[in-house]
Amino acid sequence: MNELIFLEPVFHGKLWGGRHMEAVYGYELPEGPVGECWAISAHPHGDCRVMGGEWDGKYLSALWDEHRELFGNLEGDRFPLLIKILDAQDDLSIQVHPDDAYANEHENGSLGKRECWYILHAREDAQIVVGQHAANRDEFARLVEEGRWDDLLNRVPVHTGDFFQVDPGTVHAILGGTLVLETQESSDVTYRVYDFDRHQPDGSLRELHLAQSLDVIDFAMKAPESGAITAPEVDGVTTLVSTSSYVVDRLVVRPDAPVTYAQSWPFLCASVVEGSGTVRVGDVSYDLPKGTHFVAPAGCADLVFEGDMMLIVSHV
Ligand code: ZN
Repeated sequence: MNELIFLEPVFHGKLWGGRHMEAVYGYELPEGPVGECWAISAHPHGDCRVMGGEWDGKYLSALWDEHRELFGNLEGDRFPLLIKILDAQDDLSIQVHPDDAYANEHENGSLGKRECWYILHAREDAQIVVGQHAANRDEFARLVEEGRWDDLLNRVPVHTGDFFQVDPGTVHAILGGTLVLETQESSDVTYRVYDFDRHQPDGSLRELHLAQSLDVIDFAMKAPESGAITAPEVDGVTTLVSTSSYVVDRLVVRPDAPVTYAQSWPFLCASVVEGSGTVRVGDVSYDLPKGTHFVAPAGCADLVFEGDMMLIVSHV
């Protein structure tokens, strides 16, 4: 099985979004501000279709259901990862996700959500929120009650090329001026802590979930001070994070330094986030323009990347 599975992104209009993905990745966007590109997804809220090859036109969810051998016969009722690009021109709401146990009990057997962000581009003064400063539930509730958001939330300056891991129970928000590649568990369970008192176009406020948030926030977690990557690069590969849900690597392919990546996992997700090049699998070679997303199936030969590009790859 050396055939790579190229996917067509699904775009979601969002009030906080922008048009950057058009200029940066050449995507044909729907009208209006676009916040999210679901690049590799089999989630019902944005199921990607295969472009070209043996599975042309099929949904990724259908491949998962009908051809589990492509994914190493992994167990589970859904394709476990979801890869997105987010174009935040305005602030997203402050939120927190439950872990698997809480979500399973309180959200109809849903998965919890762990996510991580590779910062593709950050405006000069951009910040994000990761973590909070309250020592316990009561202190958190009191600071919320008093509207002391600046004391409560851990704001971190953000730069192009930073990386942040966001575990379940971490209060977080992507703020305006950042373009992010997000790797996450395929789940949509989000508890909104604060929405900056913003009104929707119809004048309403978005629903908040403070009670659930207080249940799931991990008050012992230490808030990070920076997203600078400290892991070493070895033969073009930097492991950004390794968790029980996913492993995420950054690959830097230089004209004089091709990168060989062994596909020894049930499957591999890959996104070309900068530059362009080719990938060779066995005796087949594929062009990889910037903004391409693909899945390499189980049992596929080593991937040999050539060109001048950066990729973010992930596997379970
Ligand atoms: Zn989140």
